[in-house]
Amino acid sequence: MGTLLVRNIAHLATFDDGARELENGAILIRDNVIEAVGTTAEFERTEADEVLDLSGHIVMPGMVNIHHHMYQNLTRVMVQDDELLVWLKTLYPIWSNLDDDAIGISARMAMAELITSGCTTSSDHLYILPNNCTLDATIDAAADLGLRFHAARGAMSRGQSQGGLPPDSCVEKEEDILKDAERLISAYHDNSRHSMSRIILAPCSPFSVTPGLMKDAAALARSHGGVHLHSHLAEDLFEEVYCHDIYKMRPVDFAERVGWLGPDVWFAHSIFMTSEEIDLFASTGTGVAHCPSANMRCGQGIAKIREMLDKGVPVGLGVDGSASNDTSNMFMEARLAMMLQRVAPNKYLSESPGGRGGFGGTPSALSAREALTMATRGGANILGRDDIGYLAPGMSADFIAVKLKQLGLSGTQRDPLAALVMCGPFKVDYSFVNGRKIIDKGEFVSLDVERLLDRHEAVMHRIYEQ
Ligand SMILES: [Zn+2]
Repeated sequence: MGTLLVRNIAHLATFDDGARELENGAILIRDNVIEAVGTTAEFERTEADEVLDLSGHIVMPGMVNIHHHMYQNLTRVMVQDDELLVWLKTLYPIWSNLDDDAIGISARMAMAELITSGCTTSSDHLYILPNNCTLDATIDAAADLGLRFHAARGAMSRGQSQGGLPPDSCVEKEEDILKDAERLISAYHDNSRHSMSRIILAPCSPFSVTPGLMKDAAALARSHGGVHLHSHLAEDLFEEVYCHDIYKMRPVDFAERVGWLGPDVWFAHSIFMTSEEIDLFASTGTGVAHCPSANMRCGQGIAKIREMLDKGVPVGLGVDGSASNDTSNMFMEARLAMMLQRVAPNKYLSESPGGRGGFGGTPSALSAREALTMATRGGANILGRDDIGYLAPGMSADFIAVKLKQLGLSGTQRDPLAALVMCGPFKVDYSFVNGRKIIDKGEFVSLDVERLLDRHEAVMHRIYEQ
């Protein structure tokens, strides 16, 4: 690839250890790695194979999405006003028509949306694999689009006849799940620095797998370097009731009992958590994927992200969905994370002189920079990566740029970084992943979006009609 000098960057937000932000910044990239970061003046005499002038743009690290179910964009806007339990029971039968073609095309669609919204690394939790579907179709999609990808081998093994929630037609045999996980690790798990592909083991939830599968998955993951563990936990009140009725314990106790706490584990949502349970996550380094859109959409509640951050729990952002969000937009997720913490009730307003009643929040609960830090460094840390999440020498060349002269950003020159969250969401004008340009002047370099939309629509009709 050679060298690339990006210069005249109006505002360069590095998110490095000093949280440096530079006016008139520049980045020198050699192949897929950042060689130097500074001001344009410092690179006056530097020669490069290619030069990109980003005057009038803000540049920041590409964002990291750590919770998603990409196939769900085939069934968006379904079950709009019911609870998660009804939502799942309605959608399981439609999802049972998925095949490899549907998985691959829906993954491309989700990845394209993610990339235009600033994501350069994503995970995908694929837990429903009917009709001999495999994760290979999503891994191929990521390689085609150039997205850095952590494929999570999800699984459901506890069908209705075994006391689980999903219909028996949607579950797999546990020995098949583990065998396929082993196959994926040996075929696709690259634990080297700047890796573009890693595997995660991800049994779906306490109500769709057995404790035995959770233990076996953890043992298998930990017998390989860098294979992390992911699941849903403390997402909904019905899950807490289920754990109480079936296991006689709380969801976090269930996780601890099956060996699922530690720096190699992260859970989506984690809303129904006591302060003691948050302490336990902090002391064990167990991570959380905060998914504010889905939590609001499903009326589940507000995760205690402020308390988690204060106590040192690793927290990143996930767009979740795309049928419980129903979109794949990282800038929007960062914005909603900030907004949602601010309305989290912490003051009782009936004590106000007017005696209004009700609860109120606080505007300092989460800042725009904290939301973006969760979306970048936070997610990278949870995925076990020390080579992405901020811009510094030796890091992977994953960065995005947004043009400042556009509707919605005018008047934000005093703080364009905060504006990306406070005035957004915005689409990126440039995206580089591992040194490769994916978006150029707002357009994909090598993806035919119109053709993808046609194929996606055709697959959607097929899935519903079967
Ligand atoms: Zn989920």
